[in-house]
Amino acid sequence: MSLKFTAEEQVAVAAVRRACVLTSSVFNKLVKNETLVKGDKSPVTVGDYSAQAVVNTILGRAFPDDPIVGEEDAADLRIESGTVLKNRIVELANEALTSELGIGEKAEWGLGPGQSRTPDELLDAIDRGTYGGGRTGRMWTLDPIDGTKGFLRGEQYAVCLALIVDAQVELGVIGCPNLPVDALKPDGPRGCIFIAVRGHGAKQLTMSGADPKPLKIPSFSDDNLNFLESVEAAHSSHSFNNRVAQILGIKRAPTQMDSQAKYCSLARGDGGVYLRMPTGVGYKEKIWDHAPGSVLIEEAGGIITDSRGEPLDFGLGRTLGENYGFIAAGKDVHAKVLAAVKQAKEEEAKSKGNL
Ligand code: AMP
Ligand code: MG
Repeated sequence: MSLKFTAEEQVAVAAVRRACVLTSSVFNKLVKNETLVKGDKSPVTVGDYSAQAVVNTILGRAFPDDPIVGEEDAADLRIESGTVLKNRIVELANEALTSELGIGEKAEWGLGPGQSRTPDELLDAIDRGTYGGGRTGRMWTLDPIDGTKGFLRGEQYAVCLALIVDAQVELGVIGCPNLPVDALKPDGPRGCIFIAVRGHGAKQLTMSGADPKPLKIPSFSDDNLNFLESVEAAHSSHSFNNRVAQILGIKRAPTQMDSQAKYCSLARGDGGVYLRMPTGVGYKEKIWDHAPGSVLIEEAGGIITDSRGEPLDFGLGRTLGENYGFIAAGKDVHAKVLAAVKQAKEEEAKSKGNL
């Protein structure tokens, strides 16, 4: 086995794991134990910025020449009114960076006791994430808290990191702090890290980086096939999914969850297909929301395309361009779903024409 992207994998796992520990502690400190005003998103803001500071600091130390396409920038933290927020973020980020070394971690990545950063260094790290993307060269994509609504509900969210080289996703690491290690034991231990390296397969680790399990999408009979979909109806069309399920004769109710945990669940067979169709508001999907999930699905033996069956293009910039939706599934299921999606689209076009 070649040593393709071994260093990148180790660094990415360390970065994602530390960001997961940080966001879990933000949840416990700010959401669970404090009375939040309904609709208050501030824990997400704190978690997002500090997780991005941690991941970008580690990437910046290990791979100083690599640009990063991240969701956040530090502009709001550099102004007077952002001081309280900034101080909280600096404290959380330094706590995460200076904790004891875990499995596979190296002090030379700037990790471990005594490796605190100054506030300016951390703000600069956050701002390393402003790269615009593109077709050539290496770049990382980062979503520090994907599935913010799930995070606030104490349900599924994910820390999502990918390495793209010349518009091809080569490495994906997704940390899911709240995902059961075994879907058949929903009340059992939680917290998993999913890793895929192109050409080298996909695996699941525990949150501490132990117990690697290779992942392969199983085959599904018509009776046990189920959909994975977003909780939020604003993010993908539930009614379109219902129609496709009806065409396919699927009896099981869809499994709804937030974030790229859906890709992780698909990769280990907790669900049979992930269908995400646009809701018609002109939203362009972001590369950080699909890069790690897409390589995970492909390396677990599945296929991911848009709803026309075309491959995703990660070379267009920060977005995936025009939004045709996504179909991800094992090979056989993908072909069936693609045909049913085509039929549902034709029906929809016909009924619109008849209005
Ligand atoms: P999910 O958890 O699957 O519902 O997806 C969460 C992601 O949806 C977030 O990372 C957002 O970037 C993204 N998002 C926000 N608005 C939309 C929209 N209108 N359509 C599709 N995705 C969206
Ligand atoms: Mg996201």
